[in-house]
Amino acid sequence: MVKLKERIEGGVYGLLIGDALGVPYEFHAQTEIPPVSEIEFTPPDYFDRSHKTIAPGTWSDDGAQALVLLSSLLDCGRLDIDNFGTRLVDWYETGYMAVDGNVFDVGIQTGQAIRKLRLGVKAAIAGQTEQAKGNGSLMRVLPLALWHKGSDEQLVNDAHQQSVVTHGHLRSQICCALYCLWARYTLEGKANSWKEAVTKIKEIYGQDSDEYAELMWAVRPDDSIDGQGSGYVVDTLRSAKWAMKKNTYEEVVKAAISLGRDTDTTACVAGGIAGIRDGMKAIPKRWLADLRGKDILYSELQKLVDWRCR
Ligand SMILES: [Mg+2]
Repeated sequence: MVKLKERIEGGVYGLLIGDALGVPYEFHAQTEIPPVSEIEFTPPDYFDRSHKTIAPGTWSDDGAQALVLLSSLLDCGRLDIDNFGTRLVDWYETGYMAVDGNVFDVGIQTGQAIRKLRLGVKAAIAGQTEQAKGNGSLMRVLPLALWHKGSDEQLVNDAHQQSVVTHGHLRSQICCALYCLWARYTLEGKANSWKEAVTKIKEIYGQDSDEYAELMWAVRPDDSIDGQGSGYVVDTLRSAKWAMKKNTYEEVVKAAISLGRDTDTTACVAGGIAGIRDGMKAIPKRWLADLRGKDILYSELQKLVDWRCR
């Protein structure tokens, strides 16, 4: 049985390494991705890597925003979306929680919301558009599940609130909530964590709610629909669920990247869950050694472990 501390550390490193591993493969079609044996921080020479100026082992917006959320939760002692919004602006403007302070990747919807926040729009409405169905709030939400000690209902509610800062669409909120429950149940060592999370979220929403209808008609969590590696929030969740069929952390993140397209985010979302499932010791040593920016997260991770394991 993997210990709680190892699962928490595995979740944080798992998401950051998945993101960093996926960065050079982003935007490529599935058919262009190298065989899994060749997927590493440095792609094979023949591969036309994305983000050529970024050193191998660098996390992108996904990892940075996840750490922004974590630091906000730890400093505020609760989810304070105005504080979180202010720190997102800080990331965008000064590279807070970015490796080398360098912001080289920002989603369209997230960029729009951050520019509104900068103009003084409240965090509760900054992400309110019909288009907000990308994976930008899902990719950074995992620290909420790792940090949270409240009830499942409170976790689901906070996951919704976390999303609305940039992605106000109900579908994005629901995917964040389902992912957080999935992460929580994996953290608790439940074997059927996805299935139990789906059962619980249906119970929390109740059959007569808009959330339940959106869950059943748009997210369709009971159906076996394989993901396509795209930036659509539901597809990212399906891609992660598909990749999680693999047995080891390494196989999960490589499978996520093998889908092509939004490789860093798919591997980040899947890698976070795989890191929780398999624990810190399951993450390959070469990737831990070569991950850049580790000095940024040491103190935050220590605070998180102290908070959860004391
Ligand atoms: Mg990214």
